[in-house]
Amino acid sequence: MLCVKDLSLQEIEAFVKDLGFEPFRAKQIFYGIYANRVENFESITTLPRELKNILSEKFYISSINSAKYEKATDCTIKFLFSLRNGSAVESVFIPWDFGLKERRTLCVSSQVGCALGCAFCATGKLGLERNLSAGEIIDQIFECEKITGERLTNIVFMGMGEPLQNFQNLVKALEILTNDFVKLFSRRNITVSTAGIVPKIYDLAKIEKPVKLAVSLHSVFDDVRQKLMPVARKWSLKEVREAVVEYYRITRIPITYEYILFEGLNDGEEDARRLAKFAKAVPSKVNLIPFHRIDFMPLDDFARSLKPASKEQILKFKSLLNSLGVRAFIRSSSGYEINGACGQLAFANLENKNEWLKSFVKLQGNSFQKIE
Ligand code: SF4
Repeated sequence: MLCVKDLSLQEIEAFVKDLGFEPFRAKQIFYGIYANRVENFESITTLPRELKNILSEKFYISSINSAKYEKATDCTIKFLFSLRNGSAVESVFIPWDFGLKERRTLCVSSQVGCALGCAFCATGKLGLERNLSAGEIIDQIFECEKITGERLTNIVFMGMGEPLQNFQNLVKALEILTNDFVKLFSRRNITVSTAGIVPKIYDLAKIEKPVKLAVSLHSVFDDVRQKLMPVARKWSLKEVREAVVEYYRITRIPITYEYILFEGLNDGEEDARRLAKFAKAVPSKVNLIPFHRIDFMPLDDFARSLKPASKEQILKFKSLLNSLGVRAFIRSSSGYEINGACGQLAFANLENKNEWLKSFVKLQGNSFQKIE
């Protein structure tokens, strides 16, 4: 049986046409699932009996359950969702109020675990279990809206996993979320964040409705970046910058750079000057992120040596960037008190931590080879 949420509207149209039904039936199915949020085909009352029966035989309408959720004092909610095969992923709901403007953002996961093994990231230490389907990505959004009773306004792909390493399912989910018929989200309110999978940045620029792109830099020196992010051994900063320039040339959407500040490693004056030069290649902004330690996990010497930059140093770094003409912001550490570091809640819920610890030893040896 297939999940109907893994099909775009065009694919549902092709399916119903093959069965000899009129193409508008596909829109009725799509509307039932995404506007009315039905949980079975019987509830789409506009469909003929015969089509309902065929759909129920061939497809299911997926849903996920929240195994656990925790609310922080700043109203951020961290969800742990359990999937059909028993795996778990995290999503974080972040409500923002800017005076009259309110935002309801969900940070969604794109993979169970992650193969990229960034030194500062709890998810990276879990390794990659599997890609999420388009339906599983969308279900995080639906379930969050159901539990909170809030209509989400923004989606950011910054949860567990590297979205560009699950490219096909990511693009399918984006197609559904930005579909003109149901209009769940404006493409301008969706951000895909990447650690710098260069060829896929070029591919993402060419999708029908491109979205905002965020790139995790964390250092503007190749040697330091390679220590923090093994993926940087495959693609240099020069290659990342060329891809980003092309992304902007094609989409005209300004770029966001993510930059975690580590004491004594990437928080100096020279770092800020080089970052400013890098960021000014195209219209952009820089999000400065305080580091949340992941000492609750087994770490190698380098990861254990990482320390958060002080508040004063972060402010100084930001001021220097601003004085160099860069739009830089300090991103709030929403939900930090509820295991705010990526992958933390999933690790806390791993049933068999010993098995995971064994695989951790393997992962340390070959995490780079896991990159596609
Ligand atoms: S920071 Fe992102 S890309 Fe790096 S290991 Fe964590 S989830 Fe993967």
